[in-house]
Amino acid sequence: MSNFVPKPFNDLSKIALKKAETVVCWGKTLIVAPHPDDESLGCGGAIALLRKHNLEVGVLTMSDGTLSHPNSKKFPPEKLRDIRESEMIAALEILGVSSDKVKFLRLGDRRVPGENATDFTAAVETIKDFLAADQPETIVVPWRRDPHPDHRATWQIFSAANDLFDVKFRILEYPIWLWEMAETKDLPRENEIEIWRLDVSETIEKKQRAIHAHLSQTTDLIDDDPNGFRLSPEVLAHFAAPFEIYLEEIK
Ligand SMILES: [Zn+2]
Repeated sequence: MSNFVPKPFNDLSKIALKKAETVVCWGKTLIVAPHPDDESLGCGGAIALLRKHNLEVGVLTMSDGTLSHPNSKKFPPEKLRDIRESEMIAALEILGVSSDKVKFLRLGDRRVPGENATDFTAAVETIKDFLAADQPETIVVPWRRDPHPDHRATWQIFSAANDLFDVKFRILEYPIWLWEMAETKDLPRENEIEIWRLDVSETIEKKQRAIHAHLSQTTDLIDDDPNGFRLSPEVLAHFAAPFEIYLEEIK
């Protein structure tokens, strides 16, 4: 499967390095992570750059992440949730975001409601209220067709919430599982999306440390679940580049 990384993601050199725009244009930014670790993998370099420029960064985590090691006796769901949340706080501390800026919605892992779910409207209302109070200038969410149901559902909730505002928030999207698991239908379509690279060479070292602060996802910290999840070297390699990929809808 790792050989199947369809265009345009199989040739990063063809994706433009957008020099005209830096994170300074993002202003106050809300980073949305379906699970603890998506923020560091997808946007860690940008987060550290934003903070370097003294821009406010908030982070909203949708799910509790408790399905990464569903059979662990040492880490039953509540303990696993706590450890994943504390890892995320540690990771964001490295990137320059203090714990009071990090919020956890604690929806069920793999149960973030997508547009066909009965509790979708309630989730959209929650996010609408959150955005009305928080007023970010830029919202960064997973790619709309990222091959994980929670990632897609997260985009759907934010997209629907944004539709409820007269003046729309700027939304950027980041890929996580698109690299490894995309089918052709998951990829950006012609004239749908602008794709660009953000140079994060200044902050890549911090980003790597933040990713590896998620010890439960990158080490044998939880060693009693043979089916436990672990980020593979192949997956991690996509997030070791000195740039991040962002996608923005063409209006
Ligand atoms: Zn995720």
